[in-house]
Amino acid sequence: MRQVAIYGKGGIGKSTTTQNLTGALATMGKKILLVGCDPKADSTRMLLGGLNQKTVLDTLRSEGDESIELDKLIQPGFGGIKCVESGGPEPGVGCAGRGIITSIGLLENLGAYEEDLDYVFYDVLGDVVCGGFAMPIREGKAQEIYIVASGELMAIYAANNICKGIQKYAKGGARLGGIICNSRNVDGERELLEAFAQRLGSQLIHFVPRDNIVQRAEINRKVVIEFDPESQQAEEYRTLARNIDNNEMFVVPTPLDMEDLEAMMVEFGIIEV
Ligand code: ATP
Ligand code: MG
Repeated sequence: MRQVAIYGKGGIGKSTTTQNLTGALATMGKKILLVGCDPKADSTRMLLGGLNQKTVLDTLRSEGDESIELDKLIQPGFGGIKCVESGGPEPGVGCAGRGIITSIGLLENLGAYEEDLDYVFYDVLGDVVCGGFAMPIREGKAQEIYIVASGELMAIYAANNICKGIQKYAKGGARLGGIICNSRNVDGERELLEAFAQRLGSQLIHFVPRDNIVQRAEINRKVVIEFDPESQQAEEYRTLARNIDNNEMFVVPTPLDMEDLEAMMVEFGIIEV
């Protein structure tokens, strides 16, 4: 069983990419548990046809932890993907990261990880590899990490910071499997991200184009592979899925210092001197 965490700057497309990717893996016959680690609880929406899933924390609050059963926490989604949303505290109250710790602990105790699974995916909020949000990699649960980025400065900056986090937790087994480019149509984006990944000692695992079909599928509460399996974008997600499934390159990344990062951005014409 491979445990994979998806990180990246806020709004970069982690939840979208993770659902489309797991959707593609499911059509390849893989058995998957997807754990949403975001208090927004929007990590599984397209796989569940828009069904508003009750989060683990909500279920805990309403049922107490004595009587909880696994099928109250897990909902079957597209392709048989087992979907979980950890949820969070009421906005403004308490630490959101704790929800992730509670949820994963509970899933473990109830035997969710003992089932016959090929993959567990974690869709993790934001770009801070701290507190509860570092939980999947800190505790050695997810040993395989992919970072979603684009050619925009802040996305690369965030990706670089996440690599510092991975480096810190490398003792627990955390490794970077690659950078996923979720394109923002920036000039020279592919070349920039290839170079960035290489300097991290890693690879660009796939370049996912920007395409409005992603939004159209989203409005219809579907992943692209379900919405339009013959589309080019569906094929891109299948390629991403194959590349990840066949991946054998797992590294402790070597993050760049600020000067090198800026020099690289200048070199690729993203920022001017
Ligand atoms: P957050 O940090 O808030 O959790 P996120 O990284 O999970 O955000 P998403 O919610 O997945 O980001 O994506 C933000 C928006 O970008 C979505 O509305 C989605 O439709 C759009 N989007 C993502 N990827 C693509 C793409 N390849 N082409 C077109 N639109 C995309
Ligand atoms: Mg998200």
